[in-house]
Amino acid sequence: MILTLKTGVTEKEINEIKNKVKELGYSPEISKGLDKTLVLVKGERAIISRDIFESFEIVESITPISEPYKLVSRKWKKKSIINVGGVKIGSGNIVFMAGPCSVESLENTMEIAETVKAAGATILRGGAFKPRTSPYSFQGLGEEGLKYLRKAADKTGLKVITEAMNIEQLKLVVQYADIVQLGARNMQNFELLKACGYVDKPILLKRGFSNTIKEFLMSAEYIASKGNTDIILCERGIRTFSDYVRFTLDISALPVLKKLTHLPIVVDPSHPAGNRDYVEPLALAAAAAGADGLIIEVHPNPQKASSDGAQTVYPDQFKEIVRKANAIRELLK
Ligand code: PEP
Ligand code: MN
Repeated sequence: MILTLKTGVTEKEINEIKNKVKELGYSPEISKGLDKTLVLVKGERAIISRDIFESFEIVESITPISEPYKLVSRKWKKKSIINVGGVKIGSGNIVFMAGPCSVESLENTMEIAETVKAAGATILRGGAFKPRTSPYSFQGLGEEGLKYLRKAADKTGLKVITEAMNIEQLKLVVQYADIVQLGARNMQNFELLKACGYVDKPILLKRGFSNTIKEFLMSAEYIASKGNTDIILCERGIRTFSDYVRFTLDISALPVLKKLTHLPIVVDPSHPAGNRDYVEPLALAAAAAGADGLIIEVHPNPQKASSDGAQTVYPDQFKEIVRKANAIRELLK
């Protein structure tokens, strides 16, 4: 539940409330606005202590949060803007993240970084650790790949997003990346989620392809509960009976999530498409539905890409997506 304190409360009074929350076995979170101070009382059964807090003179009102997620709830905060070294995600504009599915070589990463930057991207994507269905498929370049990404991004002035699949990799990834990507297959890897809660880099959390919106938000809550609230949600398609695309992009997740959470929402149109012909329409639908960013697989020669070539767009196609997506947003302003 959220306690809204009366205007003009003192530090001493805030501390008294905080101590009472702790004494009752819950954990407090404070948010100081221009006018009001809010206290979030975290604990599944916190609401049973409502009467105790009502008796505090400085408590103006009490708002129960019935949802199991609290810190990521829109009841707690209206909107979050995640600042990635000057690139603001959630500010109303679309942030473009682009690059290959897998990092391949330094030359090729440099070339892609320059190309996507020229087309309008501000964040370079690429996997150095790859979650592949087959153990015989390319598994990624590991730390070498992270170095290539960092070098290419620094040269071009881009930021880096790349995936960590386990806690060991996370320790390495945070040394090179500006945003840590948690893949769809790890959305409910609770130990990894908790570990991400302790890092000081934003986390892009991809929705598991068989997970509900509630489960998605609970995973974000896992990260937030350990202290890191710089979380970006990513809708990347779910499993349905459709056999024409790789996954079904859940466009409805955008308006639904916007209602439920203050976290920014990025859409990955590449993985649901599974075919580069469908990437643009899905990206534009996401732009129209209010996505805060698009993360797209781009390669100068997709046929030669080490992974996901079929859904990887050519640089010219990416440029068109950026132009049209921005135009759609202008139109909707
Ligand atoms: C990727 O971004 O290349 C990837 C593997 O994504 P996902 O976890 O959504 O499948
Ligand atoms: Mn991929």
